[in-house]
Amino acid sequence: MQLRHITPEVDTHTHTILSGHAWSTLTENCCAARDRGMKGLCLTEHGPAIECGAPSFIPHSQKMLPDYVEGIRVYKGVEINVIDHQNNLDIPEEYLKLSEFAIASIHSHMFPGKADRDANTATYLAMLANPYIDILGHADDPSVPCDFESLVKQAQTYGKLLEFNNNSTTSHRPGSLPSLKEYILCCKKHGQRVCVASDAHFYTMVGNVAPMMTLLDELDFPQELIVNLTKERFDTYLEERNARICALTD
Ligand SMILES: [Zn+2]
Ligand SMILES: [Zn+2]
Repeated sequence: MQLRHITPEVDTHTHTILSGHAWSTLTENCCAARDRGMKGLCLTEHGPAIECGAPSFIPHSQKMLPDYVEGIRVYKGVEINVIDHQNNLDIPEEYLKLSEFAIASIHSHMFPGKADRDANTATYLAMLANPYIDILGHADDPSVPCDFESLVKQAQTYGKLLEFNNNSTTSHRPGSLPSLKEYILCCKKHGQRVCVASDAHFYTMVGNVAPMMTLLDELDFPQELIVNLTKERFDTYLEERNARICALTD
């Protein structure tokens, strides 16, 4: 089946009203996922460095949530803000450790020196080397240029994932298409594992990645590299990341 007709079973990047600039609740997001026939979503609120973002202890608070809401597995994640080229983050490691899935993102409107390609690349490489970080968010953003070949090489060295963020196909991140295509083709060339995510800020966006899937069809991207296409595949990745983190303390 073509990707454009498939909804990933797990959306790895979603926000609720707790992120300060999103419009739906966790329950609304889970109902939307259920209605699309999905099996899970990662709850990945923005950290506090973004205006009105969630508090830095959000990974601790999320432990109060049930594993399933409306039949949807809720993976307790976070979208960490990378603050600067010194690799400072807005979630301290003691809390970051509690997350089930961690995205590290540079947000161009609040990142100093974002035009410095070499420094951006070095920062992304440092994020991928951090054992508690699973994936880079929207690294195809052309306003934060970086070297995709280096990112893929580092992701493979550390067994990490890269994200194809559906908002790069919309007016939210205008002008992204050329760099997005380059990013996709670089991942394809090297057999890099990825997640296709909505970055939903409203419940109707949850699991709605059809524009990205259509582009992946056009570029003949291998389905087996999409880790969140099935819940089983995503859970297998999480077992792998847990083993990686356990090995640190051995
Ligand atoms: Zn983001
Ligand atoms: Zn986001």
